This record gives sequence, structure tokens and C-alpha cells, in this order.
Amino acid sequence: SSSRSSVIIIGAGISGISAAKVLAENGVDDVVILEASDRIGGRIRKEDFGGVSVELGAGWIQGVGGKKSNPVWELACKSGIRTCFSDYSNARYNIYDQSGKIFPSGLAAASYNKAVDSAIQELKNQEAKLRGLPTEPESPSAPKTPIELAIDFILHDFEMAEVEPISTYTDFGEKEFLVADARGYESLLHQMAETFLFSSEGIIVDNRLKLNKVVRELRHSRNGVTVKTEDGCVYEANYVILSVSVGVLQSDLISFHPTLPKWKTEAIMKCDVIVYTKIFLKFPYKFWPCGPGTEFFMYAHDKRGYYTFWQHMENAYPGSNILVVTLTNEESKRVEAQSEEETMKEAMGVLRDMFGVDIPNPTHILVPRWWNNRFQRGSYSNYPIITTKQDFTDIKAPIGPIFFTGEHTSERFNGYVHGGYLSGIDTGKALLEEIKREEERKKESQTFL
Ligand code: FAD
Repeated sequence: SSSRSSVIIIGAGISGISAAKVLAENGVDDVVILEASDRIGGRIRKEDFGGVSVELGAGWIQGVGGKKSNPVWELACKSGIRTCFSDYSNARYNIYDQSGKIFPSGLAAASYNKAVDSAIQELKNQEAKLRGLPTEPESPSAPKTPIELAIDFILHDFEMAEVEPISTYTDFGEKEFLVADARGYESLLHQMAETFLFSSEGIIVDNRLKLNKVVRELRHSRNGVTVKTEDGCVYEANYVILSVSVGVLQSDLISFHPTLPKWKTEAIMKCDVIVYTKIFLKFPYKFWPCGPGTEFFMYAHDKRGYYTFWQHMENAYPGSNILVVTLTNEESKRVEAQSEEETMKEAMGVLRDMFGVDIPNPTHILVPRWWNNRFQRGSYSNYPIITTKQDFTDIKAPIGPIFFTGEHTSERFNGYVHGGYLSGIDTGKALLEEIKREEERKKESQTFL
């Protein structure tokens, strides 16, 4: 079967939906949205776990309380979704060693400050090297002890803003709020979608949204695009907005005909993909401290990133008896490849080091697999320090009728929900401009005839 529309949007994550909304608000509504999975939301995804709703993907609204207002925070306020303030800074004062002792706060603070200083120094040196300037002779020593490794992990894998200014925090403020609502973070997306797609009793029933449509092939020319899905359907349109993650673009899921130019694939390949995994564990009762300043805690081990960063969910959901441990990159990939039983055993070894041998086993475990998900291939983009303005121009630049969007195309806010949201608006506007220009070109050639 084949049908033609003005625009095909590939992917129904926040960037695809915000792009579609901009188009609809400006009169372009013969749009088809093709989504590979069976739901909208993409990397914003809740799941019911042990009686509460947990966020497997994005969990926080990051960048709140500053001079400018974070648009995702505005959406959250309008919808009345329940959120909880998170104070990450307590993590560094709750660092456990392998015998269950908490490092004295003075020692922890000193180690933290030293790590921040050396990270700043290292960054300066990297920048100096890039510009061909002389570097400081004394290069900072690599973290070695378990506490140094734990601090290095939160500084770098959690992007603590002390090291370098991050536009999210400088623009929107330094506060972060955890979404803790049964409807999930994804309800913000649903509410947005319902402003332009038909819905009935909270379910989208609009046939412009097509779920379970895995795009495999994109043929493009001056006359438009032909899109083929895995189930053999063909869709035609004047334009495409492609919102899949940079991890998917780096994979061979979608083939382009003609192939993308070299400068485009180079820009795509330059971007790193971070894997970030939140493992949820539900227990029959609490055995961890729950007062003020205890929400985040760390485990210092001689393997960097080994079940280092922990959070209890008592602030978000009192009485839920849930712990979350976050792994990244190589540890994420390692754990994705093993069974839940093995992962539970490892996590329990760590918890018994911290809280003693008598603690109970969890009743439930949940291990998301973002790396092995062929519609994601990782959690979010991370641009190396050598990235230039040109790289962002290139990754965003349309190829004929194909327009690119998604969190990875946001120069200021890549890696975040608001990055995805704002990039969708940007790309929607850019496409509207192009449609206008095309109409003018047509009019001109008609008057000429
Ligand atoms: P996506 O949400 O990935 O949307 C793209 C869509 O395209 C997906 O629905 C996908 O299924 C679909 N797709 C892929 N391939 C195809 C295909 N071939 N055909 C059709 N459809 C296809 N951000 C924050 O601000 N705060 C956080 O706390 C935070 N934590 C995170 C934690 C994790 C574990 C993860 C994974 C992400 C986190 N993020 C966080 C990042 C945030 O989730 C993303 O930046 C944002 O949701 C990306 O939106 P997007 O529209 O660009 O991409």
C-alpha cells in the first residue's frame, strides 16, 4: 500500500511530537508519524514496578530555578505532574567503603574538592592542547583509591556542573526535580500530542499516528521521499523529519538512497553515545537510612563505576522500599548482557558490603536495556570536547527533503528532554520556512508561464 502526505515524521519521542505540533499549529496537518515501538514517548518511558510508577528513561527535569524558564518545567507545572526536588550534593557525604563505613565528611569533602580542581585543570589542558597553547607541566594524577574513583565517577559520568559550565544549568538554573507521578513523565508528551491528534478517553485514536512501523529505507530526490517500513508498507511525502537517536543513525537500521554525504556521516559518527542504566530493586522492608540528606549515596570500590551511585525512593514514594542503582557505559553494557539473577547477585554483594549480611534479597528487579534496544542504541548523546559549531550545523542540516531533529541536534541542550523538545520546535519551524519558500518558487514559475 502507498499513500502520500506533506510530511512524514519518523519517531514519536518528544522531538517528533513537538515538531508535529508546530506543523499542526501552522496549518500543516496532513502528516504521518511512523513510530517503531508500540507507544509514543521514546526515551521517556514509565513502567509499573512494585506498586509504583518508575521512569526507565528520563527521570528528572533538569535546569530549574534560574533566570530563564525551562520549557519542560513549564509543561510540568501546567499539567500538575508530581515532582520531587533532588539534592545530588548529599551523595558525596554518604560514601560507603567496602566494610560499610561512611567516609568522614571532612575527608570526603577534601577528596571532592581535589577531584574538582584536577578535573578543571585537565579540561584547561585539553583546551590548551586543542588551540596549540602550552599546557600546565604538572598533569593531574589519575584517580586511584576507591573514594577517588567514586568521586571521579559522579563528577564525569553525572556531569557535575562544578567542572565546566553546562548551558542547561547556566540558562535555566541548577535545580533538578524528579518526576514521581503514576501517569509518568510521558504524560507531558501525551498532553502535547492530544492538542493536535484525536484522542478518546486519554487514548490517541488518530490514524496519522502509526505505531509498530519500523522505518528501514529512505529514498529521496527533489520530488520528495519514499519511506519503506519493515512490514513492507510504503509511504510517500514531500518531506521527512527524522527524529531517531544518534545511536540509531550510527547503526544500519535505516538505509538512505542515495547515501548520505560524507560530511553528514562524519558529523553523526563524531558524536558519542552514553549508556545510562537505572536498575530498580524492591525490598520487603527498608534497611537503609532515610532521613534528610540520605537520598543519594555511593559505594567506593576499586573498579570504577561498579554499582557506585545509589538512590532510595522514599522521598519520591514513601514506603515503596525501592532502591535504584545507576550504571553507565561499559558497566551498563556488561550488565545488559547478563541475566537478572546475576545482576541481582552483584548488587546484593554491594549492598551487603554497605549494610551488613543480614539484609533481605529483593522481591523484584528491573534492568532496562537501552544499549541493546535497536530503536535507541544508547541513552543520550555526548559531544566530545573537540566538537565545533560546524559539527552541529552539519548534524542538523537537511539533506534534500530530509530534515533532522532530536536531542542530539540541540547545540545547547543535547542529552536532555528539553533539548529534544526545543530541537523539535526548531526543526518544525525550519521546515515551515522551506515549505513557504517552495510555494513562492512555484508561484513565481507559474506567473512566468
Ligand atoms: P527519542 O525519545 O529516542 O525518540 C525517537 C523515537 O524514534 C523513539 O520513539 C524510537 O522508538 C523511534 N525510532 C527509532 N528508530 C526508528 C525507526 N527506524 N523507525 C521508526 N521509529 C524509530 N533527560 C533529561 O532531561 N533528564 C533526565 O533525567 C534524563 N535521564 C535519562 C535517562 C535515561 C536512562 C535515558 C535513556 C535518557 C535520559 N535523558 C534525560 C535523555 C532524554 O530522555 C532524551 O534526551 C530525550 O527523551 C530524547 O528525545 P528524542 O525525541 O530526541 O528521541
